[in-house]
Amino acid sequence: MSGKLIRAVAAGATLRAFAAVTTDVVEEARRRHDCYPVAAAALGRTLTGALLLGATLKENENLTLRIAGDGPLGGLIADTDGAGNVRGYVRNPQIHLPSKNGKLDVGGAVGQGYIYVTRDAGLKEPYTGSAPLVSGEIAADITHYLSASEQTPATVALGVLVNPDCSVQAAGGFFVQVMPGVEEAVIEHLEANLKKLPPVSALVNAGGTAEDMLAGVFNGLTWQVLAEQKPRYYCRCSKERLARVFATLERQELQEMIDEGRAEVRCHFCNEVYLFSKEELAEIMAQATE
Ligand SMILES: [Zn+2]
Repeated sequence: MSGKLIRAVAAGATLRAFAAVTTDVVEEARRRHDCYPVAAAALGRTLTGALLLGATLKENENLTLRIAGDGPLGGLIADTDGAGNVRGYVRNPQIHLPSKNGKLDVGGAVGQGYIYVTRDAGLKEPYTGSAPLVSGEIAADITHYLSASEQTPATVALGVLVNPDCSVQAAGGFFVQVMPGVEEAVIEHLEANLKKLPPVSALVNAGGTAEDMLAGVFNGLTWQVLAEQKPRYYCRCSKERLARVFATLERQELQEMIDEGRAEVRCHFCNEVYLFSKEELAEIMAQATE
């Protein structure tokens, strides 16, 4: 299992960056949701983008990234905590679109609409910001969202390489934030570096690491890695959680499921199916009405 998420600072901490190799995470999402290539690429970029934005979270905080486009994919969602766990889904995973300029047409598949980012610190009301999608290519949409809605000058790059058999060959991305007090010369140097970088998916496919990404981004600047995490596809759902949800249902709804003899529930996020037998449902009802 490979995959790493790193946090780093450069130029006296006036630049902050996060970089991740997410090939395994994206492949697991692709497999769970049985995505065709353009959906795998879009979902992989959304999951990786959420992980990178989530790397700024504190413990016990959650972040949800939602790409609500009017294209055939029908919308994407990913949520993550501050510990490198991410899960997500695309509404229509099995669509085909003709490629555009030899590449998967993620922008065409996402369409026009809005990006929403929700930060939930657990204690206060969750905060949701939004911005119009600029291209549907997801990285540019996140970059635009950060400057338009959160007034954070930043650059986000994301890449997913999908094999003809739909498996994920390489995935990753980076996120660079410009902090207050940065020198103009540092910004110019950073912008020149960014123009010279290979596509993220090509770098990861060639065996490049998260550190290699930032070595290119910060080439010629002093920088250091502060922390690293292992990103993983992780869903919080469980049969016990679902049983607790069932326990809050109206008695009549539970009785209908018991009369049907069983209940089958599929988790949107991880596609796991949970079966409840007549006896299990009867027990939930008995406990709920105690
Ligand atoms: Zn789940």
